[in-house]
Amino acid sequence: MRRINGGGVIEETCPSWCAGDHQDDQATDLDDLAHSSTVTALQMRVNAAAPSPLLSAAILQSPYEDVTSERVTPRAPYVVFAPSDDDFTIELDADGLADVIAQIRQHADRLVQVRNQLMALRTGMKGTAAMSDGL
Ligand SMILES: [Zn+2]
Repeated sequence: MRRINGGGVIEETCPSWCAGDHQDDQATDLDDLAHSSTVTALQMRVNAAAPSPLLSAAILQSPYEDVTSERVTPRAPYVVFAPSDDDFTIELDADGLADVIAQIRQHADRLVQVRNQLMALRTGMKGTAAMSDGL
């Protein structure tokens, strides 16, 4: 049950994937209602620093909102992708998320090359220190 800004009440059933508590939805505009999944993020741990969430993605759906970005279909589920833990996010459809996944895989390959180069430099055996530990 949800009170609507300006009057009225609506009963909204969450989709099975919704993990939102909707505590902030009371007495707001109807188009502010958004279902949200859990957030999937890479918890990057570097040395002893606190984990930093990177490359996070969550599914959102605003079932009453007509206007969204040009990248998503109004009222349809979409992904909110956050490259880093700042406030910058991007709304993506499935093709957009596939492009991000491809870029991450390509970057992982580049990181493997950097690691191989480092290993070669450290061992003095440049070019022979191919990674053999499953990377
Ligand atoms: Zn919901």
